[in-house]
Amino acid sequence: MVKFVGTPASGGLNLAKIKIVNRRIAGFKRVVLAPHREKALFDAALILAKDEIKTLMENTQGEHADILNFQVMMLDDNGLKNMIYQKIEEKYGAAHSVEIAMEDYCARIKAINDGYLSMRTSDIRDALTRVIDILDGKSRERFKLTEPCVVVADEILPSDLASIDRQYVMGFITAGGSYHDHANIIARTMGIPSVCGVDSEILNPLNDSRMVALDGYTGEIFVVPNDATVALFRHRMKLGQRDSVMLNKVKETKLYAPNGEEIQIFANCNDPKDIVFAVNNGAQGIGLVRSEILFMSTVYDLSLASQIRFYSECIRAAGGREITIRTFDIGADKPLERLQLEKEPNPALGMRGVRLMYTQKEIFETQIEALLVAADRCGRVNVMLPMVTVESDVTDYFTMVENVKERLLAEGIIARDRINWGIMIETPAAALMSDVLAKYVTFFSIGTNDLTQYVMATDRLNTNAARYFAPHHPAVVKLVEMVVQNALEYDIKVSVCGESAADFECAKLYIEKGVRCLSMAQSAVLPIKQHLIDEFAAN
Ligand code: PEP
Ligand code: MG
Repeated sequence: MVKFVGTPASGGLNLAKIKIVNRRIAGFKRVVLAPHREKALFDAALILAKDEIKTLMENTQGEHADILNFQVMMLDDNGLKNMIYQKIEEKYGAAHSVEIAMEDYCARIKAINDGYLSMRTSDIRDALTRVIDILDGKSRERFKLTEPCVVVADEILPSDLASIDRQYVMGFITAGGSYHDHANIIARTMGIPSVCGVDSEILNPLNDSRMVALDGYTGEIFVVPNDATVALFRHRMKLGQRDSVMLNKVKETKLYAPNGEEIQIFANCNDPKDIVFAVNNGAQGIGLVRSEILFMSTVYDLSLASQIRFYSECIRAAGGREITIRTFDIGADKPLERLQLEKEPNPALGMRGVRLMYTQKEIFETQIEALLVAADRCGRVNVMLPMVTVESDVTDYFTMVENVKERLLAEGIIARDRINWGIMIETPAAALMSDVLAKYVTFFSIGTNDLTQYVMATDRLNTNAARYFAPHHPAVVKLVEMVVQNALEYDIKVSVCGESAADFECAKLYIEKGVRCLSMAQSAVLPIKQHLIDEFAAN
């Protein structure tokens, strides 16, 4: 038995045979022709690669489709094509030129240090590897699986996920990749255990077809597990099956705090499809819809009509349950590329969230109009502002709302205002001034991700400083308590929608402090609810 430990990227356990997918590129072994011929080969491979991706898209929806669409756009990118042509001019073969340009392009993107763009490098690699494989004459059926197995690869590419037969994939192990890359985001939504960042020795061809025990919760991997490990995994997997049957029963059970007040467990979602899934899986409401997803989506765009459609579909998907949409939270760690925002030396402390209303007035007005129209047509909705720091963030935004609303009412575009306005409390200033801010809104939602970042003076994306990112630290908890007290005093709703709501110890603490609504990743809704039911029943 050989043990490896990587980064847990998608929960779950499995025991199965290893299938090594070796994608190492061999494009430069070929005889290199004259540059104009290599260019012609590259152009032809590009067309074929785009055709392949478009064919894959025919059987794909939602997030997978968005990714494939993005890949087609990348293959049409002139900057990238010119980099490849230039390498061909320098007498590298077509396949090798694509490889060099791909590494160069991805390195440049990583150097920008934008979390979202970095995440997209695996999509770019995926598209370009397809071109290289065509030039190399390699089989395109990279994931032709015929029996259940754990796929072991350098990296799992998003298009792999679009073409796999789900019934045979028991797990993913990758030497590269990261928790936040698209393949792992999708693995989590598909419920496939995944571990990334594993020592590349795992790719040793001798491991192909060997048994592996994979723990997506801890990141532990046992190649050729001994009998005791196999027995332990089988036992835990059985318990897991029982757990999911039991968790399903929890959906209909109500959760009460020790003082008898009901506690709501909501889900954080990105789009209507997510909302339907969350509601079907036990979420009692939707506590956060991150509307900035519109900047990344290829299904929706920022036009008024598209935004009305997006918000309307979100409200309808919630099926009458409470739903809270957050206005654009762009800037800092959030995607920027569709907005020509000024580069800032310290973006987390610069123009982000609601602050951008001052420089991106039109975008914010269009969003307000779309929200008012969607609510008028589809039902009451909560809307909240991110990154509020001072009172004027709220009052200036609401002046904008009043102006848009007046026009829409006067023109008969809407008949009424069906929005409950709230704010996120995610800066120390907003928490400290929450008694003042409470007068303007009908609810608070505490964003513990950013609140922790700003209270503890630690970049939420910086893994080196991760020890300071402690939402349970008394400094953060004191502020949460203060916000809850002020919300109770002014009789407005308060919930927590940061990741810490899905941390059992934090969730318990928030309830002790008086929070009665927690909003979290959909996958945490039932386990946390069950945990809290058990905890409060025991005391
Ligand atoms: C938060 O800051 O806690 C939050 C929920 O928002 P985001 O993670 O999108 O910044
Ligand atoms: Mg935030």
